[in-house]
Amino acid sequence: MAAQSPQLAAPRSRFVVVGGGIAGVTCAERLATEFPSDDILLVTSSPLIKAVTNFKQVSRTLEEFDVEEQASNILEKRYPNIKVIQSGVKQLKSEEHKIITEAGQEYIYEKLCLCAGARPKLITEGNPFVLGIRDTDSAAEFQKHLARAKRITIVGNGGIALELVYEIEGCEVIWAIKDKAIGNTFFDAGAAEFLIPKLSAVKPEPRIACKRTKYTAAGSKIEQSAAANPGEIGSALGPDWHEGLCFKGAKELSHKVHIESLCEVKKIYLQEEFQQSEKVSLAFPRVQLDERNAEMDEERWPVYVELTSGKIYGCDFIVSATGVIPNVQPFLDGNNFVLGKDGGLSVDKYMHTSLPDIYAAGDICTTSWEPSPVWQQMRLWTQARQMGWYAAKCMAADTLGEPTDMDFCFELFAHVTKFFNYKVVLLGKYNAQGLGSDHELMLRCTKGQEFVKVVMQNGRMLGAVLIGETDLEETFENLILNQMDLSRYGEDLLDPRIDIEDYFD
Ligand code: FAD
Repeated sequence: MAAQSPQLAAPRSRFVVVGGGIAGVTCAERLATEFPSDDILLVTSSPLIKAVTNFKQVSRTLEEFDVEEQASNILEKRYPNIKVIQSGVKQLKSEEHKIITEAGQEYIYEKLCLCAGARPKLITEGNPFVLGIRDTDSAAEFQKHLARAKRITIVGNGGIALELVYEIEGCEVIWAIKDKAIGNTFFDAGAAEFLIPKLSAVKPEPRIACKRTKYTAAGSKIEQSAAANPGEIGSALGPDWHEGLCFKGAKELSHKVHIESLCEVKKIYLQEEFQQSEKVSLAFPRVQLDERNAEMDEERWPVYVELTSGKIYGCDFIVSATGVIPNVQPFLDGNNFVLGKDGGLSVDKYMHTSLPDIYAAGDICTTSWEPSPVWQQMRLWTQARQMGWYAAKCMAADTLGEPTDMDFCFELFAHVTKFFNYKVVLLGKYNAQGLGSDHELMLRCTKGQEFVKVVMQNGRMLGAVLIGETDLEETFENLILNQMDLSRYGEDLLDPRIDIEDYFD
């Protein structure tokens, strides 16, 4: 047999990372630092990568950082041993330790980390009037459609829907949610009630500053990226993704949101199909919750949404903000990965998938270890960074034959964000997730100012929602981590006249 020509052999790397989002970039950076004499290959379909800058650990588990979209050569300059290949991976041959890119190039790895993120789970595929928002390209597409729209329908009740309904002006918004209260992923009905008045209030200027992750991508950069690379899978947007973007429709209005709760989309009609159906659509309700005032709509719309409640609304387009699906597809063919319930690559406590030498981090993975009682996986920016970092640590330890301890960040779920221009801190089992009925809630609320909720079980604090400038996050973080018995403090725990820090510091 003829010997293989050396020029044709696939390049080999000790470490290959797939995906230029926060998880992949963080993983590559840490590997590059730990193995300065090895080349780290970062293979990504997006032309820009996401870099974490100004990272600050603000408390034991809460962190603050900025996120910048950068050209890949900036990363290569910062880490001369990182080599970025801009091409999507179309196939994984795990038995041969090989990936094959869209450009047809093969790369051999010793250890591979898959960080290809996730994509929006659309209510229907292939309908040009249904948009999902995931990356800079889809945000630019949404902005373009919105500028001409008089009415849109937003479907979904997670973070993206919450941010959109608050940000959009100059356009009527029908917001269809399957839950009873808004923001169900993050809040219970009490917190939702606290937030609702903000939907009809005039937005304050300037906006409050907020300790949280910040995402920077100038509006112009978003347009450039959309124009230069149509059809490519970009990284997910993130915190503050809407800042610098103009979310203004074609009408002269500020907020105009109508919430349709406890319903899902039953059917979507295009204009002609709707006319043939002889069904009736409703005008934008003038008063929230006043069903008696429902009027027939005289206007013709490009698309109509029929809800399971039986109501039909016409609109210019629909935003599907109903969660994400991990981008596992290119890696499955011929590889027997164990998948999590939500379709992500199942990873153990070392971020290792079910296949040898393949790790995964960020939105693409589903954690399958027994978590700490106050941590849960959520597909969030902070967790993408933490997992990318920890996956690199595990890959390094495995390579060097060293033991690894579970990272402290997985001890307590901690997330800082901003909804409706309020600072929002979520800690532990903030919505009593999985706690059954033997838990108690304690509340403190000052309308328009702050909302504090703690979740207690057997006298111990297991979670908290803090909305507004409460300054309680560090104290509550410690109380949840320490699992101190707080029974004797009773209601004093939330009494605003008592400086709670003095009790516990
Ligand atoms: P991604 O950032 O999606 O990166 C995946 C990378 O893989 C990309 O570079 C992509 O190009 C590349 N890729 C994909 N397929 C392939 C392939 N086959 N071959 C090679 N490369 C590939 N989180 C928060 O914490 N707070 C928020 O307020 C928040 N708001 C959000 C708002 C929006 C609109 C969206 C979409 C997300 C938001 N998130 C938020 C979620 C957060 O952005 C994600 O959890 C996080 O970015 C995931 O990072 P990742 O690195 O796992 O994936």
